Amino acid sequence: MTQSFYKNNVININLMIIIDLASKILADGYVCDHCLGRQFAKLLSGYTNKERGRVVRTAVCFALETGDKIKIDPVNLQGFKFRNYKVKKTKVTECKVCEDIFLKVPEKAERVIENIKDYEFDTILVGARLSETLIDNEEALWELVGIDFCESIKMELSRSMGQFITTEIKKDLDRANPQLTVVYDFLEDDFEISVGSLFIYGKYKKLKRGIPQTKWPCSKCRGLGCDSCDWTGKQYKETVEELIAAPVLDETEGVNSKFHGAGREDIDALNLCGREFVLEILEPIKRSVDLKKLEKEINKINKDKVSVSELASSDKATVVSLKEKKADKTYIAVVELDAPIKEADLKKIDVLKGKVIMQQTPERVTHRRADITRERKVLDISCEFVDPKNIRIRVTGEAGLYIKELISSDNGRTEPSVSALLGVGATVTALDVVDIK
Ligand SMILES: [Zn+2]
Ligand SMILES: [Zn+2]
Repeated sequence: MTQSFYKNNVININLMIIIDLASKILADGYVCDHCLGRQFAKLLSGYTNKERGRVVRTAVCFALETGDKIKIDPVNLQGFKFRNYKVKKTKVTECKVCEDIFLKVPEKAERVIENIKDYEFDTILVGARLSETLIDNEEALWELVGIDFCESIKMELSRSMGQFITTEIKKDLDRANPQLTVVYDFLEDDFEISVGSLFIYGKYKKLKRGIPQTKWPCSKCRGLGCDSCDWTGKQYKETVEELIAAPVLDETEGVNSKFHGAGREDIDALNLCGREFVLEILEPIKRSVDLKKLEKEINKINKDKVSVSELASSDKATVVSLKEKKADKTYIAVVELDAPIKEADLKKIDVLKGKVIMQQTPERVTHRRADITRERKVLDISCEFVDPKNIRIRVTGEAGLYIKELISSDNGRTEPSVSALLGVGATVTALDVVDIK
């Protein structure tokens, strides 16, 4: 009777496939609802694997009740009350695939929750690592029943952990950009927490010379600490990055910072117009910071050195776009000449306006940059005669134009140059960024 029931109905031929697969899974040894249902994970959405497993197991029991001659290990039929089918009594055993790992989820998840409660976060991603044995168990099952509708145990376990935790602490799961990532290692019975960075956007001005933008390790000891750096490991005691980051690190309890500037000015150059940056705080504990208050504090502590404005919360994407930004910049250079000139000579410099400058990598940076020749345009240039041996130059250049070399010629490596046009040696003694477009 059952045979014809299946054969006469097209839809039920597929149901037969499910019963057939399930009977292979349940033929020998106990398989829990999670592991049974997981082999049908790609069928029907809106169900957990445990629910799918329960439904499939129930369908198998219906088949047995109607006299179907499938072979099922009775250990898989516990709790079902049959009217017709005779089932042997068996003892409860562990699931042969997952070794009952899903029963441990609440306990492990509670442990994680206990350890992440000090962090401030809105989004989390939870992953699971499991033993080779469980993966092998699952692969043995796949060899038997195929992988047409299945999902991996690792996927289900990660999701179960994630769902338990997010429901319990009322936070959102975020796969793409989680603020907190937890990986639970079921083999080691331990877990790792990684805390996503906090990004703060702003603009800074540099009001004092001699401060590099970012941390700069001591050139003698390369940051290890030595007599010449007073065991700080630093070449410069202060950096724009550290001056801005210190109060933010205090506030957020982060472990370290990274500074992403839209370009940088020379150590001895001022920046009076404001340069965009994103400050990245690594492993913050607190994320909700009052940026207005922080801005005031940074500016108070760093009076006459560095100031910030327009602080706003930011993200990794902004860091990338800042790095790609190519801005034209305007500088004012104070220039000393090694021989006197007349004011009228300054007209010779006008030819630089709109000119493409050929610049071989400056000698001062050849140790860290490839020695190449590049072309950058001078967009505007004007000069002010101070006295026969001192002039001031205001120059706007494309991003990447080396200003000091444009003026000095860098021993002929920059062509043309102010020095070559005037026919005297010219050295920049002070350089300030006054506009960034
Ligand atoms: Zn299982
Ligand atoms: Zn040192």
